[in-house]
Amino acid sequence: MSNPTSIKTIGFIGLGNMGKPMASNLLKKGFSLKVFDLNQQVLSEMAEQGATVANSPNEACVEVDMVISMLPAGQHVKSVYLGKDGSGEDGVLANLDPSTLVADCSTIAASDAREVAEVAKKKGIRFVDAPVSGGTGGATAGTLTFIVGGADEAFELAKPVLEAMGKNIFHAGDCGAGQVAKICNNMLLGILMSGTAEAINLGVKNGLDAKVLSDIMLQSSGRNWTLEVYNPYPNVIDTVPSSNGYAGGFMSKLMLKDMNLAKTTADDTGVETPMADQARGMYNEHVETNADNADRDFSSIMARFDAEVLK
Ligand code: NAD
Repeated sequence: MSNPTSIKTIGFIGLGNMGKPMASNLLKKGFSLKVFDLNQQVLSEMAEQGATVANSPNEACVEVDMVISMLPAGQHVKSVYLGKDGSGEDGVLANLDPSTLVADCSTIAASDAREVAEVAKKKGIRFVDAPVSGGTGGATAGTLTFIVGGADEAFELAKPVLEAMGKNIFHAGDCGAGQVAKICNNMLLGILMSGTAEAINLGVKNGLDAKVLSDIMLQSSGRNWTLEVYNPYPNVIDTVPSSNGYAGGFMSKLMLKDMNLAKTTADDTGVETPMADQARGMYNEHVETNADNADRDFSSIMARFDAEVLK
């Protein structure tokens, strides 16, 4: 299968907030889909859009050119691909035709991605980790950024399919590199968001208006993405979660998950991340001390400095 356009049929596993709109975009672009999820409701909705519903992950992956998964965490990815005992013998990889390309788009630890890739390699199956950035909005609009780890040939094969769901497709390096790049980005985002909240709070507590201060920092050296498009202080930017009670967006518990993945990667490789340790500690406290915070957008870390913003 050297011609990328030869991918016509895809087995898609995991049709949640991200996977469902991604699968819908593949259907719209003319790919034929076999889908599986534990949630029957979402399977019915995909059937209405033209997908074939499978009764198990293995059934979704029979006679397909490619398998895509979009699952919550590493444990789900490993159980789907490697089976219950992790040997690979009763998972999807055990039954897959070696010509099938596999792309896992979930955000998981690089070590988990490499473990699955290693089993795939032994069976002659090409595997890429392809985590995404862009959230549910990007998944719906088909404008996701894919950050891919894997061999050159597998990347080239996957690229046109990923382009049907995204705008920017990066090749970060070998298997696991996509996950490393993704969590480096999200680790930095967690630091930037908590640092920006801290700076705005200092200004507000010293009599400044949050919007005036934000405008000044936007034109000064403290400028960063959160100030540009995702200000954590209410009513500085109308369209973001902080101006809507911190509803929607990227949940604090998912930010904490990604910062924990960064910590695991740092520990596994003996790398120090003191700034991220501070930010991760704050997100941990934020999520643990108030059950509602877990589902609030990650910009709600602002409440760590100024509880009034939640009122
Ligand atoms: P989700 O919980 O909405 O969806 C996960 C889906 O997987 C669910 O429908 C669930 O039923 C299904 N599932 C779980 N175990 C399964 C199994 N064994 N077999 C088949 N299906 C199974 O999660 P999501 O928001 O779609 O996120 C998916 C991944 O994408 C996560 O790794 C997340 O970190 C990452 N991500 C999410 C966002 C976001 O904004 N939501 C952004 C970037 C990356």
